[in-house]
Amino acid sequence: FTVLALESSADDTCAAVVTSSRQILSNVVVKQHDLHEGFGGIHPTVAIEAHQRNMPGAVRRALENAKLTMQDIDGIAFTRGPGIGGCLSVGSNAAKCLAAALNKPLIGVHHMQAHALTPLLTAPADRIPEFPFITLLISGGHTLLLLATSQTSFDVLATTADESVGRSFDKVARLLGLSWGTRGPGAALEDFCRRDIASVPDVGSFPVPMAGKLAFSYSCLHSSIERYLAGTQGPLTEGHRVALARAFQDAAARQLCEKLTLGLERLSLRNINPRHVVVSGGVASNLFLRTRLRAALDVYSPDVRIELVFPPLELCTDNAVMIGWAAMHRFTSGDYDDYSIDLRAKWDISTISDANSCASR
Ligand code: ATP
Ligand code: FE
Repeated sequence: FTVLALESSADDTCAAVVTSSRQILSNVVVKQHDLHEGFGGIHPTVAIEAHQRNMPGAVRRALENAKLTMQDIDGIAFTRGPGIGGCLSVGSNAAKCLAAALNKPLIGVHHMQAHALTPLLTAPADRIPEFPFITLLISGGHTLLLLATSQTSFDVLATTADESVGRSFDKVARLLGLSWGTRGPGAALEDFCRRDIASVPDVGSFPVPMAGKLAFSYSCLHSSIERYLAGTQGPLTEGHRVALARAFQDAAARQLCEKLTLGLERLSLRNINPRHVVVSGGVASNLFLRTRLRAALDVYSPDVRIELVFPPLELCTDNAVMIGWAAMHRFTSGDYDDYSIDLRAKWDISTISDANSCASR
């Protein structure tokens, strides 16, 4: 089964072709970072206009790169939500019109479910995560610790009380005056931490909020950086800024590690001991974090190895490959959506099964 998938929930315009035999035939991502840098975050109107400009070309290239025509496509998937309503509507309308005109089946996908299921497509055949697995979804809009018991069933173990970890990377990158580069603010901050500086001042470390609670909080972390900067006189040296960036990244990672371990402990009390931890979403591309998470799991479970599974770097941030793949089990079982399907700009991941039932289409 060959799926053409479209994704336009935030600032990247994406189109891709994937197959039920786990082949990625094309993956087109048109980034818009340069358009939003001046606004300090995604500007909805600018993003919508860019999706409108870029989506037709992205679809054309996805087909060309896959060396296929529309006749070879068996079904069309798109991101139904969550995301910015106007942005979602660009991909959704394109997908619905293509499907209706060509009489192809259509499926609308939950964006965070797609982030979570990506490793089921990309992991080597002998290391595919098995249900139930625990998943940490860390992106621009979400910080979620979930228990995944099937492709459509996710129990929320922890979410953020305020802002997402990705957004705090974005804000701190801006506070430190970093230029976004081609990979965006979060990756710019990670690169900045890696700067080779002979000696950096000691800026102390920032605590993990809500100790012992299964909940994330990132707004106090970025406020601490803001307060630190407000309390210093004159512009900081580069070494001082690097030290601050590293202290931030360290605290951000420490929080994810502590809450993941706490989640595993709580599940273990219920006799649920997942063998796999799937970490996905844009922040999962952070290599410092990957190392920290591995170390935390080894400390938590020194005797029985818990596998830590990430998508490849380019599939951590938004892409349409994950959307096509997350729709695959429904395409192959003939569970399609109507062409009149609505969008869900807000959509709780624990309600996917209800939303996919016939009554709610
Ligand atoms: P959501 O998936 O919640 O709807 P989104 O789709 O906008 O949000 P993603 O594309 O999944 O988010 O991830 C983007 C986020 O990941 C941004 O906040 C970005 O700064 C962050 N990010 C990307 N690369 C890195 C990195 N190397 N280190 C830290 N953060 C990163
Ligand atoms: Fe995303």
